[in-house]
Amino acid sequence: ITDYRSKNIGLFERSKTRPIQHQEFLNSDATRKRYWARSFLAWPYISSAAPNYNHYKLSFLQNKGYLKHIITQNVDFLHCKAGSSNVTELHGCLNRIKCLSCGVKRCRFEFQLELSYLNSNWLYKSTEMQVAPDGDVNVEDINFKDFKVPNCRNCNGILQPGVVFFGDNVSSDVVNETVNVLEKSDSVLVLGSSLQVC
Ligand SMILES: [Zn+2]
Repeated sequence: ITDYRSKNIGLFERSKTRPIQHQEFLNSDATRKRYWARSFLAWPYISSAAPNYNHYKLSFLQNKGYLKHIITQNVDFLHCKAGSSNVTELHGCLNRIKCLSCGVKRCRFEFQLELSYLNSNWLYKSTEMQVAPDGDVNVEDINFKDFKVPNCRNCNGILQPGVVFFGDNVSSDVVNETVNVLEKSDSVLVLGSSLQVC
């Protein structure tokens, strides 16, 4: 799964596609259809991604007691797949979805089955896809209007992937948990991040 900013290979250098903004998702039914249709096409790729050497090495170090806690901006569940525990996902995880009204959560795999049932004519769309780090896929030549997206079974609210979109805030609970973990740490190992916000 590629990232956004890596030189030559990050999404921002390879494509003019930009990640969805939180307000866009909230304000437009058409945008939500487009997002979920693209997410539907990308899910087999995203969900079958496997941890790499570094994920497994961190899990190994954690099992040996050298690492207590992992804090990640990634939303791909790969640290957990590699066997790590005590993982704080700052930006959430694509493995679940949430209702924006009542907050109920659902498993993304189960939601994919429901989307497949409602959109069986979409199962064989283009496989020439460029999958983005947030589980989006770059396909522009498809009419998204016909894609059916169910609402929450509990309250009929809008369903969103369980991640923090650009333009939204990390929840205060997650921020507090992160600060708490950092304050208890005597050292921090940083991998793959400049730790700068731009
Ligand atoms: Zn709901």
